[in-house]
Amino acid sequence: MKYPAIVFEKEKIATNIKNTIELCKKNGVDNVFAVTKSYSAFEPMIALSYECGIRAFADARIQNLRDINCPTEVEKLLLRIPMLSEIEDVVKYSTVSLNSELVTIEALSEEAIKQNKVHKVILMVDLGDLREGILPCDVYDVAAKVLELKGVKLSGVGVNLTCYGAVIPDDNNLGELCSIAKNIEEKFGIELEYVSGGNSSSVYKLFDKSLPSKINMLRIGEFLYYGAESSYGKTPSDMFNYPVTLRTQIVELKEKDSLPKGEIGVNAFGEKVTFEDKGKMLRAIVAIGRQDVVLDNLTPVDKSIELVGQSSDHTIIDLTHTKSDLKVGDIVEFELSYSSVLDLCTSKYVSKYME
Ligand SMILES: *Cc1c(COP(=O)(O)O)cnc(C)c1O
Repeated sequence: MKYPAIVFEKEKIATNIKNTIELCKKNGVDNVFAVTKSYSAFEPMIALSYECGIRAFADARIQNLRDINCPTEVEKLLLRIPMLSEIEDVVKYSTVSLNSELVTIEALSEEAIKQNKVHKVILMVDLGDLREGILPCDVYDVAAKVLELKGVKLSGVGVNLTCYGAVIPDDNNLGELCSIAKNIEEKFGIELEYVSGGNSSSVYKLFDKSLPSKINMLRIGEFLYYGAESSYGKTPSDMFNYPVTLRTQIVELKEKDSLPKGEIGVNAFGEKVTFEDKGKMLRAIVAIGRQDVVLDNLTPVDKSIELVGQSSDHTIIDLTHTKSDLKVGDIVEFELSYSSVLDLCTSKYVSKYME
């Protein structure tokens, strides 16, 4: 194994995926879009998802969607509102995209005609979180214009919550999404393929079967793979919380002071830092740094190990209170969070494994 390594636990993740699909199905959500951005569409995770029954993938980066290959045709959804500069790739590598700007949808239509395709469009509605989305009062006008375009198909409406504004999905905002979907269907005499009710923060509504019934699609990353819904941080008892770890190797281990010696200026990041005098410490350096992951997002698996500090390429940990007899070359493991998985998978200096 090449270190630092991020290791995905296959059996536990498979259980999480299967249980999520089952839970969604029981609630009328037949379209589980597996969000692949946290693990940069790492191929074994894609294959496992497919094996477990996933037939639709979603990512914010078109490069990741391009690299997804499955035994049969799958739906590929671009999550981030497309840049006008990537329209050709969006039509080429995704089958459907989330949209909120008419000029972008017009460009998608034009490009799709060129490529002899019909690109599906989901209109995002802003229901209070204030990230992406058309204002509810404007959505019917936009829908009417989209319906006139030949290269795109209006395939649904969607909402994203709990991202920027931390707004929790509830009967009000999700209910409004469903009304908008119903109104569009009635006004224009069409049927929408997808009513997309959000991300892992909407999952808690599945636990008590309170998700509005018109919602038939969710875009799920965190809960699907890491078992954690993101409104209240709950993990069901039959699922596994974050079955993924970081393994790092110790490159230095010495007893040293806890207080730096000499005149104190600023650290490698231009920050003023203060130190607590804990006397002599058994300090180890593991080979991972802020360039790969931020210290605060790591938790040592061995709870007697304490985090000390970090620079671009080094992470210093305190082994004073650990019972294990660690030495240079040994491996220290860390538990991860969503943002640490995302950061680590983005770093080309971190190897990915599935075990
Ligand atoms: C990242 C993202 C998701 C998935 O979020 P999770 O919290 O991982 O479930 C869904 N929709 C959009 C638009 C996203 O950007």
